[in-house]
Amino acid sequence: MFKSLGNRITDTKEAVSEYLSFLKQPDFTKAHAHKSYVQKIKPEMHELHLRFSYYFYDRFLPVLYPRHCPICGQVLPYGIYVCKKCAPELPYVREPVCLACGKPVASPEQEYCYDCRIFPKSFRAGLALFVYNEKTRPAMAAFKYMNRRVLSQFFAREICARHKNDILRWKPDLLVPVPIHKNKRRLRGYNHAELLAENLSVLLRIPCQGNLLLRTEDTAPQKQLRPQARLNNLQDAFAVNPIFRDQLADLTTVLLIDDIYTTGATMEICTRILRGAGVKNIFIYSVCIGLARD
Ligand SMILES: [Zn+2]
Ligand SMILES: [Zn+2]
Repeated sequence: MFKSLGNRITDTKEAVSEYLSFLKQPDFTKAHAHKSYVQKIKPEMHELHLRFSYYFYDRFLPVLYPRHCPICGQVLPYGIYVCKKCAPELPYVREPVCLACGKPVASPEQEYCYDCRIFPKSFRAGLALFVYNEKTRPAMAAFKYMNRRVLSQFFAREICARHKNDILRWKPDLLVPVPIHKNKRRLRGYNHAELLAENLSVLLRIPCQGNLLLRTEDTAPQKQLRPQARLNNLQDAFAVNPIFRDQLADLTTVLLIDDIYTTGATMEICTRILRGAGVKNIFIYSVCIGLARD
């Protein structure tokens, strides 16, 4: 009896010191470190937590705070995610699309978009939900910067309605959001791509790891940069989170999730990092995608 009690004490001590060392990691805020710890030690708790928060925000919260249409902002009845007027105007990505990144291209004869021809990509394939245009731009800005976290349920539901079978055909072992730098996370309070990956995880029943990748550098906005300059700018901006490094060898296929895809530099760098860490197949999914340049 004493022996088992002794063991338990040592276990607890070890657990506490392991937890404290998590908190000391320089790349994390404390809350983030705590989350990684829970995800790593108790994956089933993490799954339960994701499912609970999905149903809380999707079913319960709209009873008290009605949803607004993501496009025009009009208040919606319970259970409706987009108003009748805006629903037919949603700019879904339609065929023909680039075989690599999923960007709409001008003709079916054109296999790859301009950016994928100039800079071939390392991910296996990609898909996107909406074209990034004047309809979707305000919704994406609200989702990203203005705390409209509830939009993650709308996007996740739309993604499943449109591309669930395609995603399941890729057989991803894990969903991984593109990370944001801890300074941005602290400022905004959340990573929008992570919220999306978490909701998709519940709907697709595929595990998700919110902080498998870390953004180690807070790079300047790269809207003005050309594709090669974007890649160079991002070269050292991402890294595999050291606490998950030993688990990556078990993964065959990862699905990377992000909000907006333009030239694909961010997805490409994240793909290279995951492949460098031993993951064989990377697929990508973006909520919005720019139109091809030709
Ligand atoms: Zn509307
Ligand atoms: Zn492409």
